[in-house]
Amino acid sequence: MTSSHPFGESLAFESTRGAAASSPLDAETPLARLLAGNQRFVAGQPRYRHDVNAPAARTAAHRPWALVIGCLDSRVPPEAVLDQDFGSIVVVRTGGHVLDEVGLGSVEFCVSVFGVPLIVVLGHQYCGAVSATVQAIDSGDRPGGLIGRLVDEIEPAVDGDGDPAERVERAVDRHIARTVSKLSELALIRERVASGALEVIGARYQVDSGRVAILGR
Ligand SMILES: [Zn+2]
Repeated sequence: MTSSHPFGESLAFESTRGAAASSPLDAETPLARLLAGNQRFVAGQPRYRHDVNAPAARTAAHRPWALVIGCLDSRVPPEAVLDQDFGSIVVVRTGGHVLDEVGLGSVEFCVSVFGVPLIVVLGHQYCGAVSATVQAIDSGDRPGGLIGRLVDEIEPAVDGDGDPAERVERAVDRHIARTVSKLSELALIRERVASGALEVIGARYQVDSGRVAILGR
């Protein structure tokens, strides 16, 4: 399945999309703003400078218009790769964007308090958390302590066939889809999506190119 979307091929899973949500290519939608930011980033022409004047200019109000749920990977800072200013997006980051109760509580906070109309689950190429999960499955040597919880959460996205590096990349996409589904289980998010007030989508960041591709469209 191919997509007319300029950022790449669509992959086969559903995003949750509000019935009244606008087209992603409408210039003023939150998603279009994020994708335009990524285009600027890829082109080497970022608009926003993260100097002290930017946060100082945003002290009066906090009105973010999108939530990005990402991995803690230092190569994927959402504000940079989506070229967004201070005060624009709220971000929840954990290893492999695994969401526990506190993470989900943070998501609910952003939806209920800020009323964000868009949630993007941003996974990425070469994800170390997904790689560690594939390694743990193959070796049978599971990490101890609380790291094991990350592996437990990512494991259902991993299949058993083929080259480990290829399995990691397939698992990255599946894990993004699973995180989108997990969010959709929250009553607050289900209601907002059903009313058209919120859209939840999956996206993948390519470390190699800097590009963000929307999945499931
Ligand atoms: Zn990662």
